[in-house]
Amino acid sequence: MSDCIFCKIVAGEIPSEFVYEDDRVVAFRDIDPQGPFHFLIIPRQHFKSIKEMKDESLMGHLLKAGNRIAEENNIEDFRYIINTGEEAGQTVFHVHLHLIGGRKMTWPPG
Ligand code: AMP
Repeated sequence: MSDCIFCKIVAGEIPSEFVYEDDRVVAFRDIDPQGPFHFLIIPRQHFKSIKEMKDESLMGHLLKAGNRIAEENNIEDFRYIINTGEEAGQTVFHVHLHLIGGRKMTWPPG
């Protein structure tokens, strides 16, 4: 999609260093990290949210890439987040898996 920031990252139109890439997904560091490690794993193909992504194999592939990134960075404990819809905090409408870790988890808060 021409006006999608993550499509532009996939296409190399916005500079970003990929920590992982293959034929279906790419991963890069979040620009506003919420922990010592904060990666975003995204499909190359544009889907507005996880609801539009019907491909189970691609869903699994995102998680597999995340697990690999965690292992490669020696991240023992982490969480995955997929915000879906504005009320849930989704701000970029190209589906992405957050991988946040690297410190004692404080989730759930309180
Ligand atoms: P969400 O709120 O779940 O849609 O998450 C969007 C995430 O994308 C936020 O954590 C942003 O910090 C991150 N983000 C936005 N633009 C960029 C960018 N150019 N490079 C890396 N991360 C970005």
